[in-house]
Amino acid sequence: MISVKGLKKSFGDLEVLKGIDLEIEEGEVAAIIGPSGTGKSTLLRCLNFLEIPDQGVIRIGNVEIDAEKYHRKDVYQLRKQSAMIFQDFCLFRNKTILDNVALAPEIVQKKSKDEMRREAMQILEKVGLADKAESYPSTLSGGQQQRVAIGRAMALKPNVLLLDEPTSALDPYLVGEVLGVIKDIVREHNTTMVIVTHEMGFAREVADRIIYMDQGHIVEEGSPKQIFTDAKEEKTKQFLAYCK
Ligand code: ADP
Ligand code: MG
Repeated sequence: MISVKGLKKSFGDLEVLKGIDLEIEEGEVAAIIGPSGTGKSTLLRCLNFLEIPDQGVIRIGNVEIDAEKYHRKDVYQLRKQSAMIFQDFCLFRNKTILDNVALAPEIVQKKSKDEMRREAMQILEKVGLADKAESYPSTLSGGQQQRVAIGRAMALKPNVLLLDEPTSALDPYLVGEVLGVIKDIVREHNTTMVIVTHEMGFAREVADRIIYMDQGHIVEEGSPKQIFTDAKEEKTKQFLAYCK
């Protein structure tokens, strides 16, 4: 479903991604872990060209882009393949919860307003927020807002969900409800996911594959069991020991 070859990205003199190669199967849940400042967010943002890579070839579904020669319409096609969930939710503050979920697909898929609102309502029921449909984001807890953001991403029916530390801005007692919604999606939809997370227990439970990143490289990847109990690389072991 996802293929990344030779991905490089610098910001000025700072080389953040130093040659990333990655393949993710359809339906696979991949968790990216690693120290902060290591390029995890940049990698995720390069997957949908929120950041333009300097070099490399990215394919999601049947859309492939070579960073060194592409057309704007390719970027549009690539972006339609995935939906991203950010650390700080990024909801439309002046729209109701229902509109937050209904709005994006309205534009993208050109469905009728009634149709989208009906679908949005079903999605809000799934994330347990049907009773908040007419509320505004500021009246919701962080956990509820993130569940809306997840619903909005699902409304796009993407091939791939990209989640960048979806629980790290939340109070600890709100983390569980958001992880629960993500687990439900994994169970019910078989959506391909790439999730950057510091929640090691969650990664271990939900991910098919753990990818350890450090200083712009993928240092090691493997099954949760292999990485958490039998990491090969010293850097991975040190990081995991520090997380405990
Ligand atoms: P991580 O998500 O692993 O914490 P990031 O991908 O956010 O790491 O950042 C990697 C490095 O790139 C950091 O040093 C960060 O300061 C830098 N960086 C990220 N985005 C930008 C940007 N838009 N402009 C300049 N530097 C950036
Ligand atoms: Mg980050």
